[in-house]
Amino acid sequence: MNENKTIVVAYGDGIGPEIMEQTLRILKHAKARINIETIEIGEKLYLKGFSSGISKDAWDALLKHRVFLKAPITTPQGKGFKSLNVTIRKSLGLFANIRPCTSFSPVIKGSNVKMDMIIVRENEEDLYAGIEYKPSFETAISHKMITFSGSEKIIRYAFEYAEKNGRKKVTCLIKDNIMKIADGMFHNIFKEVATQYPNIKSDSIIVDIGSARIASRPQDFDVIVTLNLYGDIVSDIAAEVSGSVGLAGSSNIGEDFAMFEAVHGSAPDIAGLGVANPSGLLNGAILMLEYINQHDVAEIVKNAWLKTLEDGMHTADIFDGSISKSKVSSAEFADAIIANLGLKPSILAKYTYNNQDKRQEGKKRTESQIPSKELIGFDLVIDGRNSNIDDISQRLQNISNNLSLASVSQRGLKIWPNDAMVKVGKLDVLTCRFIGYQDTKVFIELLPDIIAKVINAGYDVLSTDNLYNFDGKPGFSMPQGE
Ligand code: NAD
Repeated sequence: MNENKTIVVAYGDGIGPEIMEQTLRILKHAKARINIETIEIGEKLYLKGFSSGISKDAWDALLKHRVFLKAPITTPQGKGFKSLNVTIRKSLGLFANIRPCTSFSPVIKGSNVKMDMIIVRENEEDLYAGIEYKPSFETAISHKMITFSGSEKIIRYAFEYAEKNGRKKVTCLIKDNIMKIADGMFHNIFKEVATQYPNIKSDSIIVDIGSARIASRPQDFDVIVTLNLYGDIVSDIAAEVSGSVGLAGSSNIGEDFAMFEAVHGSAPDIAGLGVANPSGLLNGAILMLEYINQHDVAEIVKNAWLKTLEDGMHTADIFDGSISKSKVSSAEFADAIIANLGLKPSILAKYTYNNQDKRQEGKKRTESQIPSKELIGFDLVIDGRNSNIDDISQRLQNISNNLSLASVSQRGLKIWPNDAMVKVGKLDVLTCRFIGYQDTKVFIELLPDIIAKVINAGYDVLSTDNLYNFDGKPGFSMPQGE
């Protein structure tokens, strides 16, 4: 028998306190082996002047106990407050967002399909790193940053999750037909990690058709692993298709910390009425029980909850006269779950923790092989407005003895040399690619020289990128038409 684990609890805002009270009451009756340390976060803290909605004492509790059950909070609008969720995710390194999407057909209205899908979303990288620039007044750039270690960590997490939870397949969603370098790296790591998990099937699908299939055939998916932005979008599609957005819990997992919560927000419109559905937070708590290895308690609570849904005891948000038996308050719903502890559902699939942990010990982290790296040139992004491509190419072609102009492209399309006779419209931000002249060695010291020469030729240099070959292969994309 495990000894008690201390967890940090925040009651949050809006309906938060009501649903947390019911959730903790159920956990107590189910004999969860937990001690609770309560912290205050959210609206009250924002209004006291804590711009991230959390005090130092609350941080200290999180850093000490490392497991956090959080009710939804309200972020006051338009006063420069930072999102507490983003602050917590980034500060605690919560790299994985896990969202189970299950349908509860036929006991809940609007839940029509059979699906039982887990979405494992990378939580720290991608466009969400928020690295953005405006090189000119009419151009905005947002960097999509993917790292080998971040990708390896989330992909391995998905396979480990699958093995631990008796799942059969992991599907990777990517768009590497377009983003060959960034998504291509993620995909290659996925294929390599998959070879280490022979008990788990694996496949990959381009994210656009993948999203369509999630909407049309959700039952075909088991575990999905994907990048941050795609994960954000497909989680909402899957939740919508399952018809159970208000019932879903989620976890945010890091190497040393974990946070569990409901998917929904603080629902201020029904706060204080005692009618909110505690299911989302309860499902977050069930994920937490699994995380702290109290699978026995997780199973008892989950089955009692499923049985209660089957019994037709429904809160107002899921109540439907044709299926439901009683419209219950938050507290009555929790009472019904408590009365069902130890019972199992008969229509919905009962929940059994698959304890046949088939994980093989000794799997090594896939290390990136450090390749040889060679600088072969530079991309200079220039302001090409008020100019024309013949002028630009003439002025820049023989500008340097060391570097020669290889191409000029606009929005990724090569417009010089114009072999494909591309129709060139109005010029704006242009990428001029300079490569070592006749394969001469390129040094970083050449960069200031070429920048100065391009400026002297009459062009504003907006930004630059170094062009590297790795083991002789380009670590940069080619413009279309190259
Ligand atoms: P919301 O999820 O709070 O509410 C959307 C609708 O769903 C409302 O009609 C609400 O009454 C209903 N609803 C939500 N949860 C319910 C429940 N458990 N039982 C019954 N009905 C429920 O979304 P919103 O209105 O866009 O956001 C309200 C606040 O919540 C905002 O301040 C937002 O920033 C915050 N929020 C917080 C989190 C979080 O803390 N993780 C997540 C999302 C939104």
